[in-house]
Amino acid sequence: MTTTIRHIIDGAETGDATRTLPVYDPATGAQHREVVAASTADVERAIAAAKAAQPAWRASSLIKRADVFFRLRQLLADRTDELAAIVTSEHGKVLSDAAGEVSRGIENVEFAAGLLHHLKGERAEQVSRGIDVHSVKQPVGVVAAITPFNFPVMVPLWMVASAIACGNTVVLKPSEKDPSAAIWLAKAFQEAGLPDGVLNVINGDREAVDALVDSKDVAAISFVGSTPIAEAIYRRASANGKRVQALGGAKNHMVVMPDADIDGAAAAAVSAAYGSAGERCMAVSVLVAVGDIADDLVDGIRSRIEQLRIGPGTDPASEMGPLITREHRDRVASYVAGAAAEGATVVVDGTRKAFDGNGFFIGVSLLDDVRPGMKVYEDEIFGPVLAVVRVASYQEAVDLINANAFGNGTAIFTRDGGTARQFEFDIEVGMVGVNVPIPVPVGAFSFGGWKNSLFGDSHIYGPESIHFYTRSKVVTTHWPDHTPAQVDLGFPSNH
Ligand code: NAD
Repeated sequence: MTTTIRHIIDGAETGDATRTLPVYDPATGAQHREVVAASTADVERAIAAAKAAQPAWRASSLIKRADVFFRLRQLLADRTDELAAIVTSEHGKVLSDAAGEVSRGIENVEFAAGLLHHLKGERAEQVSRGIDVHSVKQPVGVVAAITPFNFPVMVPLWMVASAIACGNTVVLKPSEKDPSAAIWLAKAFQEAGLPDGVLNVINGDREAVDALVDSKDVAAISFVGSTPIAEAIYRRASANGKRVQALGGAKNHMVVMPDADIDGAAAAAVSAAYGSAGERCMAVSVLVAVGDIADDLVDGIRSRIEQLRIGPGTDPASEMGPLITREHRDRVASYVAGAAAEGATVVVDGTRKAFDGNGFFIGVSLLDDVRPGMKVYEDEIFGPVLAVVRVASYQEAVDLINANAFGNGTAIFTRDGGTARQFEFDIEVGMVGVNVPIPVPVGAFSFGGWKNSLFGDSHIYGPESIHFYTRSKVVTTHWPDHTPAQVDLGFPSNH
């Protein structure tokens, strides 16, 4: 019998299975669960629960709030394997990768546990005679968190941990492709002592998202997903008067300079391009080979590809699992199939690799002589396909990256500190790695791209999330000091 995944509203599992969506095990290709798709009325109930819970949560002491995060951290650490297995069963990534995702999510919980420090305001004494000014950070109200399939634990925690720490209540809408992890998280929060209604999970698709984006009771939207949806949500939610951060897709370039450690760069490129089957927003999808090192680099990558072990995420021997759906696998394959006609050289064609069973597996591909204008260069493929662009100089590499519509992450491999420093200065990308292919910061730094990789002005989690999830209030104070009161209709000067 198929398991049905429902919503969590006001602490209770709920949801009529009038409309459901299939959830697959990507390793077998079989539908093993279904998820209830929320109606607008379901979403309104979740928002109402969040709204009702917010005054009491906001009034709870900061220490009591921090306790929830300390307990949650321990739960996540103790039960990482259980949560990782849930991720693998619906996403397909290998168990070690899923456990890595949980550990990144734990960093966001640890950051949230420091909320007493993050929520400190500022104070200036004696800005005028007998007048003091201080500022406080207050919650915005109800926050909607809308998340993608590729990190079903970490990305919800990017948003939910900081939003709740700041005194907000949340309606989380996870991806309909792998929704079980969000339900697990909501139950773990509950076990850690979070009051009912503070975190609600609503499952579904566009209907649920539209209801969140249009609700007058939702004050802020955090979205992570593909660029077209991110942009549409940013426009619609901001037109509705909400604050929005909408993180989109990526096309991350890794530059390899002629002086780099070519062997190390080849290993890094393979790890960053094919890890999690390329379904990471920080995956390297374009390798920019500068000068005459391209042949050696391509050879180094090809030889490593031959050794990659692709199989079910539950098999400890597998280094890469399947893609998320059959449709996505076919879409990725179509880019490889069209690459030669566009003028690229297909060095390794992963679509030719055969797999037993009906899982959504695909082999990894390596394309050389790729140039701007080709579909394999312009589009986010989001699969295990690495494109190599050959350029003559550092400047050509920088111009290529800066002309690209996306600006999520980039990396440079070089032994020259001056070149690395100049790259950091020149490059129009939000996250930069120096001899690090996936430059993902730790929880104490915020995360976000530039250009079509982020709509809105706040990066996610870390310090910028405290800014995003709070409103500042500035208070000017004067206490009676026994000087005679005077009427003065002028605009008071502080001098
Ligand atoms: P997606 O855009 O298809 O879905 C994201 C969310 O939006 C899901 O909850 C989905 O249900 C909802 N959604 C889908 N279509 C919608 C529509 N028409 N209207 C309203 N809501 C809709 O993204 P995905 O395929 O789940 O995730 C992969 C994408 O996410 C990639 O583009 C990847 O680069 C991006 N991503 C970006 C970051 C980042 O930090 N920038 C991180 C992770 C993933």
